[in-house]
Amino acid sequence: MNAADDKTIVREYFNSTGFDRWQRIYGDGEVNKVQLDIRTGHQQTVDNVIGWLKADNNLPSLSICDAGCGVGSLSIPLAMSGAKVYASDISAKMVSEAQDRAVMALSNTVNPSFTVQDLESLSGNYHTVICLDVLIHYPQEKADEMISHLCSLAQSRIILSFAPKTFFLTILKKIGTFFPGPSKTTRAYLHPKADVIKILEKNGFSIQRQAMARTKFYFSSLLEATRTSV
Ligand code: SAM
Repeated sequence: MNAADDKTIVREYFNSTGFDRWQRIYGDGEVNKVQLDIRTGHQQTVDNVIGWLKADNNLPSLSICDAGCGVGSLSIPLAMSGAKVYASDISAKMVSEAQDRAVMALSNTVNPSFTVQDLESLSGNYHTVICLDVLIHYPQEKADEMISHLCSLAQSRIILSFAPKTFFLTILKKIGTFFPGPSKTTRAYLHPKADVIKILEKNGFSIQRQAMARTKFYFSSLLEATRTSV
């Protein structure tokens, strides 16, 4: 399968069965045990990012690009804390849900600003570029290109989360639960942390903070890197 196929499959998935599944997981309604476990793990990742950014005490002065924003789980709290958030996602359904949730939470349609766009075609410059739990849908080579492109959009900082390759066997065992049934499937790709760090460094960034979110069915490594060269 080539990278274009991966992208088409991912887009279709998050506009159909994937949308139904993930908007429930990323919500607060009733879900099954596995979905609840994934919800808890994902919330740890979101909370880690918000914790880092709040600790810096400068959110209202930041422009943030949330690439692959899903239903706005990160974009909405960041906008509530005063950051200017540019959120985008390849899936029109996810973006529409995010927009609805933002209106409910913030009573405005201006911040975050949402667009339906794949991250490869994003342009512009943002203080901080964030991309959570998107790289899992792409093989290493494609993920490297995506990371390099995201680096080119970041003035100062990039924050990424991905499923680390170290948990390969554990995840493989559980993969049926992540994406059950062949018709509902997207492949899950794991990325060695050392490779992700290498790509960030190649693009002139160096690691500042790291965290790991881990529950039974959710594993995500979180990296913050800041620009060391222009
Ligand atoms: N980042 C969000 C979060 O953590 O709440 C959503 C994570 S969800 C597992 C993955 C999201 O990435 C989906 O909403 C999907 O549509 C989006 N996505 C996948 N490939 C993408 C791409 N090439 N460009 C932009 N978004 C993409």
